[in-house]
Amino acid sequence: MIILKILIVSKNIVNTTMFFLFYSIISIGDFMGNLIIISGPSGVGKGTIINRIKEKYKNNNKKLYVSVSYTTRNPRDGEINGRDYYFISVQEFKELINNNGLLEYNEYGTGKYYGTPRDIIFNYLDNDYDVILEIDVNGYKKIKELGIEHRSVFVAPSSIGVLESRLRKRNSEDEENLKKRIKEAFNELNYMNLYDDIVFNEDGKLEEAVDEVYELMNSKKYIK
Ligand code: 5GP
Repeated sequence: MIILKILIVSKNIVNTTMFFLFYSIISIGDFMGNLIIISGPSGVGKGTIINRIKEKYKNNNKKLYVSVSYTTRNPRDGEINGRDYYFISVQEFKELINNNGLLEYNEYGTGKYYGTPRDIIFNYLDNDYDVILEIDVNGYKKIKELGIEHRSVFVAPSSIGVLESRLRKRNSEDEENLKKRIKEAFNELNYMNLYDDIVFNEDGKLEEAVDEVYELMNSKKYIK
């Protein structure tokens, strides 16, 4: 009899825990703003598209926050700490992981770490902002696993040759890292079908790609 009671009590505890777990997963997606994930291979022009989207939101008096990630890579020419990334040491990155400060993180193909700050994203979503995360395919998979409500766009190049020449023109990597980025780009293209939409950023047609992403973000499919 005692054993039976223990079993019933422990079953209730499990049920209650399951309920709260389920409820907290559901409520993770219960935000005012929309979360948009934008991925695509290095050099495809995600950053340029996102900057134009920012302008469009501003011109239309709409609220948008573009997440600033932490990274352990070095800044490129013209990049500013706190605007493009928070450039931090590996030690600082590990501390963020240990303190649960990151929503997701990944070691990108070049051996550097990248991570999305946790609290700030939820804060903006709660305050009715649309939030863009520009993250790689692994980061996107993590967001899916966490059950956070989102929509996603993969920005694809018209050809891998175009991508390679863009990366070379950017001239920000040594040959070894450039090769790693090209390899990673090939790899990422295999996952584009995981995304809600694919937008091609063809050479000389930037504004078309910008309009396409902006229209998606403001379409019924993307707005809750
Ligand atoms: P890059 O070094 O060219 O700025 O970025 C390399 C890759 O890391 C890009 O695919 C970019 O989208 C991705 N990335 C940037 N920030 C994050 C992040 O916070 N998390 C993840 N998972 N990937 C990121």
